[in-house]
Amino acid sequence: MLEETEARRRILERTSPGSVIWVPLELALDQILAQQIVAVMDSPPFDNSSMDGYAVRAAEAMVGARLPVVEGIQAAGVDLGLELKPGEAIRIFTGAAIPKGADAVIMQEDVDREGDSIIIREGVELGENIRVRGGDVCAGQILSRRGEVLTPARIGLLASQGIPEVPVHSKPLAHIITTGDELVEPGSPLLPGEIYNSNAPMLQTAVIRAGAVGGVSHAVDDPAELREVLVNALAASDLVIIAGGVSVGERDFVQEVLNELGVVTEFWRVKVKPGKPFLFGVHPDGTLVFGLPGNPVSAYVTFSLFVAPVIRRLRGDETESTSVGIGSLSGLAEESMHNAGDRPHYLRGICENGRVRLSGTQQSHAIFGLSRANCLVRLEAGQEVAPGESVPCHWI
Ligand code: AMP
Ligand code: MG
Repeated sequence: MLEETEARRRILERTSPGSVIWVPLELALDQILAQQIVAVMDSPPFDNSSMDGYAVRAAEAMVGARLPVVEGIQAAGVDLGLELKPGEAIRIFTGAAIPKGADAVIMQEDVDREGDSIIIREGVELGENIRVRGGDVCAGQILSRRGEVLTPARIGLLASQGIPEVPVHSKPLAHIITTGDELVEPGSPLLPGEIYNSNAPMLQTAVIRAGAVGGVSHAVDDPAELREVLVNALAASDLVIIAGGVSVGERDFVQEVLNELGVVTEFWRVKVKPGKPFLFGVHPDGTLVFGLPGNPVSAYVTFSLFVAPVIRRLRGDETESTSVGIGSLSGLAEESMHNAGDRPHYLRGICENGRVRLSGTQQSHAIFGLSRANCLVRLEAGQEVAPGESVPCHWI
């Protein structure tokens, strides 16, 4: 049985980022930049007013001074090319270009308007209320580096530079196959002995959250049907994720069918709980194949530990490593915890304010506790944790 870190290393070494494509900004959210982006211009691109008021020379705008306001209003949008002559003021609005000769903008609240003149009530400093060209960004400056996630604010920054599209790695196509005679889609009635298919929407949304495009198919426990579904999925995807049927029960056909289709099993079974029967294989055309245990909690934990990192790496996340951030988070146990088994155990936990407690029943089918959890707590084989001790966790 393979150690968990070694398993992840062997999967990640088969994984490299997808091809670079250019996507419009509005479709770039949460994608990862494939190349650094450099500012093409200064921002702001010209000196402009941060207030509604009057463009003046600061030295002339002493308290009590009366300045005639010249004709023409400098509003945002069009630079009228006005020039401020000594002793005058020009009406100006927020975002408008500063007229030549002006070195400050006095807020309209700080003057009294009398006919065509203003009388200064509060003085103004040199440069006050002027947003200078390049004061935020200078041409040539790095705006965002390769590997950074495109947040709404970074997308806004690129738009402010007139950049309409960004280079990202194409989203991997992941196809999920659920297996089992007992499974019924939500929305249909259950017959005795049946249960609802919770893995399909859970894994599909997990795949989307990790950054891939996800499709789903279902196969009953029949080798011919599984073969057909698998052939289609292998042909159309970068990753195929099969849930259930990967063990050695009489009704577990996944390994047999994968073999028939030429998928080389790189390993089966990992030293981790839940999730021992996890399988990783590669099809001759390069498609990566993952077999997850069918129990929903086991499926989710193995997806988080072994599949999500692959998707993030395929999207271009270069920080992804074999540790997947385990241990970068820790919490002080609020209760005693014990792993009596001989494999590392990932318990479902709730980590809040640096303290961690377990979230309900810890069995592999118990999806309620998983739904309340925000982290996995890692306990080594045989480890006992007393209240107040620190335990490594992993956000989920
Ligand atoms: P298997 O790995 O196929 O032996 O399934 C292990 C357990 O997980 C069984 O109790 C199955 O009924 C359950 N299971 C398998 N697939 C799903 C699914 N898609 N949704 C909910 N439970 C499942
Ligand atoms: Mg099954």
